[in-house]
Amino acid sequence: DDLGSDVQIDAEIDEESEDGLLGGLQIDSTAEIKVPDRLVDQVIGQEHARDVVMKAAKQRRHVMMIGSPGTGKSMLAKAMSELLPKEELQDVLVYHNPDDGNEPKVRTVPSGKGDQIVEAHKEEARKRNQMRSFLMWIIIAIVLGYSLIIAGNILLGILAAGIIYLAFRYGSRGSDAMIPNLIVNTADQQTAPFEDATGAHAGALLGDVRHDPFQSGGMETPSHDRVEPGAIHKANKGVLFIDEINTLDVRSQQHLMTAIQEGEFGITGQSERSSGAMVQTEPVPCDFVMIAAGNLDAMENMHPALRSRIKGYGYEVYMDDTIEDTPEMRRKYARFIAQEVEKDGRLPHFTDDAIEEVILEARRRAGRKGHLTLELRNLGGLVRVAGDIARADDAEYTTREHILQAKGRSRSIEQQLADDYIQRRKDYELQVAEGYVPGRVNGLAVMGEDSGIVLPVMAEVTPSQGPGEVIATGQLKEMAQEAVSNVSAIIKKFSDEDITQKDIHIQFVQAGEGGVDGDSASITVATAVISALEGVGVDQSLAMTGSLSVRGDVLPVGGVTHKIEAAAKTGCDRVIIPEANLQDVMIEDEYEDMIEIIPVSHISEVLDVALEGEPEKDSLVDRLKTITGSALDKQSVS
Ligand code: ADP
Repeated sequence: DDLGSDVQIDAEIDEESEDGLLGGLQIDSTAEIKVPDRLVDQVIGQEHARDVVMKAAKQRRHVMMIGSPGTGKSMLAKAMSELLPKEELQDVLVYHNPDDGNEPKVRTVPSGKGDQIVEAHKEEARKRNQMRSFLMWIIIAIVLGYSLIIAGNILLGILAAGIIYLAFRYGSRGSDAMIPNLIVNTADQQTAPFEDATGAHAGALLGDVRHDPFQSGGMETPSHDRVEPGAIHKANKGVLFIDEINTLDVRSQQHLMTAIQEGEFGITGQSERSSGAMVQTEPVPCDFVMIAAGNLDAMENMHPALRSRIKGYGYEVYMDDTIEDTPEMRRKYARFIAQEVEKDGRLPHFTDDAIEEVILEARRRAGRKGHLTLELRNLGGLVRVAGDIARADDAEYTTREHILQAKGRSRSIEQQLADDYIQRRKDYELQVAEGYVPGRVNGLAVMGEDSGIVLPVMAEVTPSQGPGEVIATGQLKEMAQEAVSNVSAIIKKFSDEDITQKDIHIQFVQAGEGGVDGDSASITVATAVISALEGVGVDQSLAMTGSLSVRGDVLPVGGVTHKIEAAAKTGCDRVIIPEANLQDVMIEDEYEDMIEIIPVSHISEVLDVALEGEPEKDSLVDRLKTITGSALDKQSVS
């Protein structure tokens, strides 16, 4: 059966060069790649979610999708609507109820019939009106003739004619009320409907009845004509997609639950003070499959009954952020570019080396060895920017050069901010980057999601009057205190120094701009404190990142690739990272020759690399530098 997992590519696949970036594809550009027709076959990765969607489409079950933005949730929901049978589609009409104007009647007819019925009603009304006005003119003629010839009073005749005219006009209004309101029209639908109700307010989700400013006196619009369908009704026999499901207000979630249970939901005015609130239609069908989506905390904040409803009658899937980097997968990424080019319709196709550059970027963005990112909305953004640049150049193809330019241009706000920041600091020569300075260490932090910055840390140790204090400012205060308490435990083991009796001042130079995640700066703080305590200089051409345990182990941190690149950009020659992060390093070629990466697993190695000269025999630094993890174990046993 066709699960679409085979890549539909006309081009040759060369088995021998499968290891290449193109996974063995023998093509000159994405123009040679055939894009599958069905949306479900265009989905890259997400095997599990795809299988669930196909199964759920057959069984008409609801699905909950949890995962990062831009990984294909709404794409899969739309794909599901293509898989549902089109034959079942229905049109929905709302009729005036002569018995109770505030409870309009609802009728469901097969797809395409709705239009015909409305047309037939209009035709009938037109005929009736023609008949009426014919009658009216006859009567007016008779009245005029009578008053002129028999009574000889033309004024009276005109007055009578006017009254007759108005009476007919007013009377014919009633016949418009007989034309039904076609609220769901599926006549032109090629597939089952797909309704995206993300962020919809109650009226847009559940339907509404418009307010009528003239509620009586012959000027009013009949209530059935003011009825408007909600997404739940338009999604009848199709898919209702709601992202960020937790942001839906509780009342709407409750109504949604009722709609799911009953398969029909009457429409009423949503605003209490509107005249529409007096109107309540008969039940309107809303037999949809719901795909609710969100990130992990969306699930926690979701109405528990709604969640258990989906759990009990459907599936829950987790979307992958990355996928294993295999030749087959890389061929699919080439197809992804072809898809995005086709979807946009104006971008020039991508050459083979441009495809390779996008695949490299997918590797880099995965932030995980041997994987490719599945945050494809963002990668698609890069494809579009590169294509736009190529188009502006009047180029026939989008080339590698265009991608490189696009990467500069499609930097996130954080990246732009970070680059600006580095530039400004260079201007003010805030970056020392030369020689040795006691108590000052170049830390590294991540801003936003994808940009690193160098964040210098300064420490000063002074005698305390009372019990010692850790004095740090700003949002990184807690982290600094924790780092100091970890390092003080280590120091206590190796010397008579008790830094809890001292005041330790820690300053994060220029960390004020916010958005800085300092969790990974604890080896930086520790190094700065030890350096200040012993008065030994720290190498200023070195930067470091790593988290510190009480035992002195250096633990892995996030964002190493961006941090290393930031260190290189600022002019550092060497960078210390946790050994456990070595596999996450995917820096761009241009930085590889600029900076030496030093993996470490213990604070002793950090000090060995960072501090100036040979330590004095038996000093704290000497002892700390020579210990290893196992030595620490022995120490702590004794
Ligand atoms: P989500 O709903 O998870 O936020 P979308 O489904 O809206 O993400 O994805 C946005 C766009 O990104 C899609 O229209 C498609 O072009 C691309 N995209 C995202 N995920 C995938 C995927 N798994 N396969 C192919 N294209 C994808």
